[in-house]
Amino acid sequence: MTAPTRSGGPISTGCVLAVDVGGTTMKGSLFDEDGRIRHTVVVPSRADADRDPVDAVRALCRRLRDDALALDAPPVGIAVVTPGIVDEAAGIVRYASNIRFRDVPLRALVRDDLGLPVAIGHDARAAGVAEAVAGAARGLDNFLLLPLGTGIAATVVVHGEPVPGATSSAGEVGHMPVYPGGEPCPCGQRGCLEVYASAGGLARRYARLGGTPELDSRAIAAATATDPLARSVWDTATHALGTALATLTLTLDPARIVLGGGLAEAGPQLFDPVRDALRSALAWRAAPEVLPSAFGAVAAQVGAAVLARRAAGLAVPEGWAAPVSEPVAG
Ligand SMILES: [Zn+2]
Repeated sequence: MTAPTRSGGPISTGCVLAVDVGGTTMKGSLFDEDGRIRHTVVVPSRADADRDPVDAVRALCRRLRDDALALDAPPVGIAVVTPGIVDEAAGIVRYASNIRFRDVPLRALVRDDLGLPVAIGHDARAAGVAEAVAGAARGLDNFLLLPLGTGIAATVVVHGEPVPGATSSAGEVGHMPVYPGGEPCPCGQRGCLEVYASAGGLARRYARLGGTPELDSRAIAAATATDPLARSVWDTATHALGTALATLTLTLDPARIVLGGGLAEAGPQLFDPVRDALRSALAWRAAPEVLPSAFGAVAAQVGAAVLARRAAGLAVPEGWAAPVSEPVAG
């Protein structure tokens, strides 16, 4: 472990810690009063399969706190966001299969360890919070955020608040059937959106249909001009997404739909056909704008920092932690 070093001038008071626990890595950062990241620690989530995953998260939180103190930037709050079923009000992670959490009272554990105000959040909903405060949905009260990563889970923001649902599992649109009776999904259903249109699903589907097994979604996107199978898998993905977005538009009437995750990095190659498919599926009403995420892979972490500030009783001004470049409208 290397000692943290200062950069970018003196660190003000009002610093918060934000931890994003993923299936592969855990990322923790120190945010200063102005929303700039001043220090980051990334550790593998599964460095040691024998290690208790909850202990690993707690250790990262303590390490971040110690780093912040070493930087003369005592934190005033912390938030930890995870995937899965998160009861934010109770501060409990009910169930998260890919990080092996079940009924973990994470808020109480981290509060005991650090003696700071703690917020526990859902990673995708936290990403929605970041987009609303300073990203592609800035100032909007009704919008959807869909990260297209290993899977697809939407953040549904209604009247300014991410909707958790009756059982903290709202937004599992990855398992929305887009081709009824279609290809099997690991969830047990058939024809689910994420079988066709998540970054992971796209790569698996390409390999299953006879393509090169090692190609990831980025490589498949790059191969569409010359590889008919890549073209077909890509077209099916964008059509499935457009169809799903039409259903979501008719249900929720969002002002905007923000797409993030690895697949969104394909830019116009993804957005143009998805917008076309959405428009053609909606006969009598206009389609909402479909824009790329402003924060990309750090959205959940920025959202966690916003939650940490709120937990500490600090205001979060509009534009706090905004990325340097503004999202491009299209
Ligand atoms: Zn499914």
